[in-house]
Amino acid sequence: MGTYFEWIADLDATEAEAPELGRRVVDALVARGVLLREVSGAAALGGVGHLPGPAWADTVATSVSGEAPWGMAVGTGREVYDGGQGGVDAVTCPRCAVRRSFFGPPEEFGPTCSDEEGLSWFYDAAATWRDGDAADLECRACGAVSSVTEWSADDAALACLGFTFWSWDELRPEVCDWIAEATGGHRIVHGSGKV
Ligand SMILES: [Zn+2]
Repeated sequence: MGTYFEWIADLDATEAEAPELGRRVVDALVARGVLLREVSGAAALGGVGHLPGPAWADTVATSVSGEAPWGMAVGTGREVYDGGQGGVDAVTCPRCAVRRSFFGPPEEFGPTCSDEEGLSWFYDAAATWRDGDAADLECRACGAVSSVTEWSADDAALACLGFTFWSWDELRPEVCDWIAEATGGHRIVHGSGKV
């Protein structure tokens, strides 16, 4: 058991503009009828979120249960969005585009099938950035040192604005388009997770 969620993050929003952009996204989703303006503690795990609107099913290709999901929480400020259990699959260097995978076959990754040292390397830097400091990662392929926020992550994002859709089935790609439009064309990424 566990609680599933979908997340959408804005890679371009600054900390300063995130609250206003978050309001614009909520306005857009309320206008489409997929969210209510009303917030509730029943809509999010450990916080408050907007309850689903009458047209919530427009956001998903398939509703597994057919029941309305909990709701959507707006996250402003530095946050790490991922699968919920430390599951970033890989990161890619912004300078040389070499991808570093953290999971793979036991011949390469040992009995855990994971690169624990690599995961710590990434998540330690991500945590430092989330706590408000600068954090760099050195690429083992080219040696370049770049801010952790410049690396692209598979199924994870470091962002100052994000939306968590609690107990939601897989979102249709159009939802990212709606959010990109509401933010003025920002780069929007999407993932799912479980806690
Ligand atoms: Zn590199």
